Amino acid sequence: MTSPLNTLPPLRDVLQRHDLFAKKSLGQHFLLDLNLTDKIARLAAPHPTVLEVGPGPGGLTRSLLQAGAQQVVAIEKDERFIPPLQDILKVSDGRLIIKNADALRVDPSMFTDNHPMRICANLPYNVGTKLLINWLTATPIFWDRMVLMLQKEVAERVIAVPKSKAYGRLAVLAGSVAEGHIAIDIPARAFTPPPKVDSAVIVLNILSEDKRFSDLITLGKVTAAAFGQRRKMLRKSLKPLAMSNNISLDEWLEASEINPTDRPETIDIKGFHRLVVNLQTLS
Ligand code: SAM
Repeated sequence: MTSPLNTLPPLRDVLQRHDLFAKKSLGQHFLLDLNLTDKIARLAAPHPTVLEVGPGPGGLTRSLLQAGAQQVVAIEKDERFIPPLQDILKVSDGRLIIKNADALRVDPSMFTDNHPMRICANLPYNVGTKLLINWLTATPIFWDRMVLMLQKEVAERVIAVPKSKAYGRLAVLAGSVAEGHIAIDIPARAFTPPPKVDSAVIVLNILSEDKRFSDLITLGKVTAAAFGQRRKMLRKSLKPLAMSNNISLDEWLEASEINPTDRPETIDIKGFHRLVVNLQTLS
């Protein structure tokens, strides 16, 4: 039986019919090839409730529904895309919720019913990293998998290992709660209009509760201080944090088995966890 979703027009026609041009300020680069959006949607399967940020003309939205998502919550900031999304809503069997809002201002956990959500999105470049950090540090964690299209350079930072150029705050935060890998490399030419850089789809699976680090807020502060001055030794970059917490920097580093002359990129994720735990203990 043909799904009513198949009766929707090609995405290029949708853009034309609604006179939708891409706005650079909103990071709009569209994926109009439904084979590609199907491939991305499959990485998130099976889909209970899926959060999609920035559905735009709705290619990935259609693929998620087509792949059997029980519910898709699509948050789009640009109101010009609401009418084409409503056309998808009409053939969605009540499985699509459209929210015209800035995703940075929406608490996605309000759409969960105690079951973790999946997040699947072709994120706008300008707010992609910010959204990712918000989701990684959310308490309690409301997702169990993220399938995200990001700039390739950002995706590489998420999965980077210590002592590599890309290793930094993002890798420590992500590796503290999830296991990640790059699933698909996507060249810039796959988008309309093409961005300046290539992209990649990253999959992040949440770690089991016993393996997850819990204090992401303090971890965010420690990594911000350490990597904010990447070239400096930790005895310099962490000094202000030690002072504002009224603890001895030497004692803190020693208890955390960190050499004061080390630079942040040499400290593995467990090392940052020790710094957080000891900061709390000594404060
Ligand atoms: N998902 C569509 C696709 O793959 O063709 C569009 C992806 S485009 C890279 C990013 C989308 O995010 C655009 O539709 C843009 O309007 C939307 N967007 C940008 N900033 C946003 C924000 N703060 N909250 C929600 N949506 C946003």
